[in-house]
Amino acid sequence: MQTYTAPLRDMRFVLHELHPAKPLPGTEDFTPDLLDSVLEEAGKFCAEILLPLNAPGDEEGCHYENGVVRTPKGFKEAYKAFSEAGWGALNADPQYGGQGLPETVAKLVEEMICACNISFGLYPGLSHGAYVALKSHGSEELKDFYLPKLVSGEWSGTMCLTEAHCGTDLGLLRTKAAPQENGSYTLNGSKIFISAGEHDMAENIIHLVLARLPDAPPGIKGISLFLVPKFLPDANGKPGQRNGVSCAAIEHKMGIKASATCQINFDDAKGFLVGAAHKGMQAMFVMMNSERLSVGTQGLGIGEAAYQGAVAYAKDRLQGRSLAGAKYPEKPADPIIVHPDIRRNLMTMRAYNEGCRALGIWVAGVMDIAERSEDPKEKAEAEEFIAIITPVVKALFTDLGFESANLAVQTYGGHGYIRDHGMEQLVRDSRIAMIYEGTNGIQALDLVGRKLPANMGRGLRRFFHPLAAFIEAEQTHPKIGKMVQGFARAFGALQLATGFIAERGLKDAEEAGAAATDYLRLFGLVALGFMWMRTAKIAAEASGDEEFYTAKLATARFFVERILPQAGALLFTIKSGKGAMMALEDSAF
Ligand SMILES: Cc1cc2nc3c(=O)[nH]c(=O)nc-3n(C[C@H](O)[C@H](O)[C@H](O)COP(=O)(O)OP(=O)(O)OC[C@H]3O[C@@H](n4cnc5c(N)ncnc54)[C@H](O)[C@@H]3O)c2cc1C
Repeated sequence: MQTYTAPLRDMRFVLHELHPAKPLPGTEDFTPDLLDSVLEEAGKFCAEILLPLNAPGDEEGCHYENGVVRTPKGFKEAYKAFSEAGWGALNADPQYGGQGLPETVAKLVEEMICACNISFGLYPGLSHGAYVALKSHGSEELKDFYLPKLVSGEWSGTMCLTEAHCGTDLGLLRTKAAPQENGSYTLNGSKIFISAGEHDMAENIIHLVLARLPDAPPGIKGISLFLVPKFLPDANGKPGQRNGVSCAAIEHKMGIKASATCQINFDDAKGFLVGAAHKGMQAMFVMMNSERLSVGTQGLGIGEAAYQGAVAYAKDRLQGRSLAGAKYPEKPADPIIVHPDIRRNLMTMRAYNEGCRALGIWVAGVMDIAERSEDPKEKAEAEEFIAIITPVVKALFTDLGFESANLAVQTYGGHGYIRDHGMEQLVRDSRIAMIYEGTNGIQALDLVGRKLPANMGRGLRRFFHPLAAFIEAEQTHPKIGKMVQGFARAFGALQLATGFIAERGLKDAEEAGAAATDYLRLFGLVALGFMWMRTAKIAAEASGDEEFYTAKLATARFFVERILPQAGALLFTIKSGKGAMMALEDSAF
């Protein structure tokens, strides 16, 4: 059985020591003690309510019958408890019934939810994405009517983009919306793969749907966003008449089996325009960016669950003797944690998770600035940073989460491959995060093709500047100087790779495409490296809590010595260009 204890000490470290929050409007009442107690309670809720449903939910899956979807046993009750306790409303605006807590704390809670039950987390996660899109692009009327219900969890949300013939290339989508005299729209079309598209946990479902108006220009520029409720609300705001929205089927899939993945048909469904006509992608991007950061958090959550499982097993499982001589001679064999190869697994997972947590909370803190700052310049800079880092967080965290799940299975040996310990479920559940919300390959293209060149590279410089300043200041630090020099080499590789792509990619877009995935990994490793360097500096200069800070220093060293050197190989690969990759004709495959 999988177990989970929220890593509260590390969460407090990233929240208070590594990224102490800037005082921002609306956060005055949130003392560190209050934030800590939110994290503590969330950890209990996730471990006691969500985790016990994870394996049974995977075993049972969702049920479909005549358009009705039932979630696995216990999910409905857990969702009710979750909503009543306000876990879905943490970072929502108090104007709509939210608690107005910082994004940083919400992200840490999200990590706990994903570590315990990623399938469950998708339901409130999609609602939050719908909340974000509606809040930034909906009319006041739509916001006042729908946001409080989404925030309370009484109603849930979806995002309906994908159609059978179009996933990545949304310019191909065919769902149609016809304007009506009363100002509403009639939607017709069919969407596939819609998470939380139909279920039995909330009394109404609010679909955010991409569709085309009759006068829409072709391609991506002709897409509009609509709000389409499952039940049309009556005059009292209660779910009234059933709208023309139905679930035709649910998917049978590799993982996240307790998350209903639905085919949703719109047959003369009544909808309402969100934002301007033909500007749906702009509005949906708000939701997609919020979801991309959340999907990154899914990777981290799974990575943490994998690490905790692997550590427990490695301390318990007796096989072989330490190469340095028996460590536990009183036992028939040593626990496998003595073996260097098992240590490699555990340290890799630990370095990924703690690094990703630090980076994720850095980004969340910048999101708080973008949301709450009253200084337009500061807000704009925050938004530029978020734009460049979002594809990195999404792709890097989910790649590493999957890698960690695999390392956990490896640590368990055959006992990881069988179902009893929950490790194989982590591999299956984490795999989708590399695909949905734009595949990781598409994230890499977004980084290289859109985000790097945006505003003449200003966003990139904003990311590079603090790294360069840190290296300059700390490379001769008596305790961490050597590590900082290792980090500087990786940063140098990233700068060279950036220059190479800027030059070659400008002349030949295929060159940029060929480099993109390796470049995103290099960028991500350097971003994690920066987090590890800042962590190491705090740890080297800290007093007290020796065990914690010693472990931080050791893990930082592991990251620099055993993971970060991949930067050199990635630079080499990137510089080899597209030649070998594109050499064969299509017919040769
Ligand atoms: C379990 C699950 C839940 C989902 N939930 C939702 C949801 O709630 N709402 C929703 O709208 N969708 C959802 N999706 C759909 C998901 O977002 C898409 O599957 C994903 O975006 C990829 O689209 P596709 O499957 O059509 O693959 P395709 O677009 O056909 O891509 C196939 C491959 O080609 C690559 N590729 C495509 N175009 C390019 C290009 N221009 N350059 C380089 N490589 C390219 C891709 O990276 C991928 O590797 C879900 C999917 C699943 C499986």
